[in-house]
Amino acid sequence: MAQRLRPDLILCAAHLPDMEASDFARALRRAPGTRAISLVVETIDRNPELRHDILAAGADDLLFKPCDERLLLARLRSLLRLRETEEELTLREGANRALGLADEPESFARPGRIALIAPSAEAAVTLRTRLERHVAGPMTALPMKEAMRRLDEQAPPDAVAMLLTAESAESGLQLLADLRAKAQTRDTGVLVLIEGAAAEALAVDALDRGASDVVLEGFAGREIALRLARQIARKHRLDQLRADMRDGLRAALTDPLTGLFNRRYAMPRLARIAKAAAQSGRDFAAMSIDVDHFKLINDRFGHAAGDAVLVQLAELLRGAVGEQDLVSRIGGEEFLIALPETSRTAAQMAAKRICNMVRDAAFPVPGRDRPLRVTVSIGVALLSDVQTGEVAEGVGMGTMLAPSLQGGDETALHQQVLEQADKALYGAKAHGRNQVTLCNARSAA
Ligand code: GH3
Ligand code: MG
Ligand code: MG
Repeated sequence: MAQRLRPDLILCAAHLPDMEASDFARALRRAPGTRAISLVVETIDRNPELRHDILAAGADDLLFKPCDERLLLARLRSLLRLRETEEELTLREGANRALGLADEPESFARPGRIALIAPSAEAAVTLRTRLERHVAGPMTALPMKEAMRRLDEQAPPDAVAMLLTAESAESGLQLLADLRAKAQTRDTGVLVLIEGAAAEALAVDALDRGASDVVLEGFAGREIALRLARQIARKHRLDQLRADMRDGLRAALTDPLTGLFNRRYAMPRLARIAKAAAQSGRDFAAMSIDVDHFKLINDRFGHAAGDAVLVQLAELLRGAVGEQDLVSRIGGEEFLIALPETSRTAAQMAAKRICNMVRDAAFPVPGRDRPLRVTVSIGVALLSDVQTGEVAEGVGMGTMLAPSLQGGDETALHQQVLEQADKALYGAKAHGRNQVTLCNARSAA
């Protein structure tokens, strides 16, 4: 049924008519299709060995019958919430893996950093002593009051075990909420160990505040170690998934050859730059840059030489403008640079400087002793070239701008600027290459 129905969660008894819960848990964890299903086992048996066997076999939790209904529901809510984070990230990872961007998941368990938090420093140290025999990684013992500050000072832990009593409930629950709110500890598993009176009500609160796991009684060192190891494994899995997701995003937005942003990133960024410029009234410039006779480089010296030129040119362009400027590769040997808050004169000077830098640079390529010489042509256009009203009076405007431009379509401002930069680029090519041409919508005036 589990194979067929693929539920999110299974609640089962410790002794089933045809098998034990531990065998069921092992079977569930073995099969890829059912591995991620949460499993909670209910039992009346309080034997610690049985308890350990069931957890070690892969059950997420054990609850004693008769179980407090609020606690059962809080536990189920918590498990379902934990699944959501993981499913969300796994979904994206699936896409990355399909594209070959994700690393294979780790198959071995690494020890992790554990923080042990208790109402007092002494209680934290006692907890550490009890766990030492069962835990491989480093464990820091922290009193509750100092925990948040001390955790901020060190590398975030992979798992936290927090001892909670009725007296320390308020500060403990607050700490739990703080851990969940911080980006560094958002994915850290928090195992809450509850001692003393009103344990079940406190467990419900802890789970609803974001505890990953709770243990109400019988803090056997071995069991706590097992539960912590599971939290650590989950944290490492989430870290990996998030890293894969970042790699995937980076890969989607950058060009693998040069490392520059690609067109998919550049266009919306250019749109934002144009919008900000239109709002602030401070002009921005777009440069359309194209390598001259690039096909000849490929034809004469090979594709690898062409690639080497593109890589070095990208480096040069990146170094030629400031941090706030956009440098991107939007086509084979075509680059786009956008300069926010720039005047016409400044943009023209920047373009000339880049043109001369490329002309004067040496481009060493593989398989050739002498470096190549390369030139680029650059077309420059500014927002003020396409803004209606201002440009409508310009001499030559009627022929330069398409009729739609004069309607002042706000949403496509950046595209209009880019079109004008491209037109200017054709002008530079037509006039002999290795030069800068400004959009003549204005300069003709
Ligand atoms: P023009 O001065 O008019 O711009 O001439 P061009 O030869 O630079 O322009 P054309 O558009 O005819 O040729 C561009 C060439 O760039 C064709 C294509 O094979 C080459 N190319 C595009 N992407 C890459 C790349 O990633 N690596 C290499 N090596 N060549 C590329
Ligand atoms: Mg081209
Ligand atoms: Mg070219």
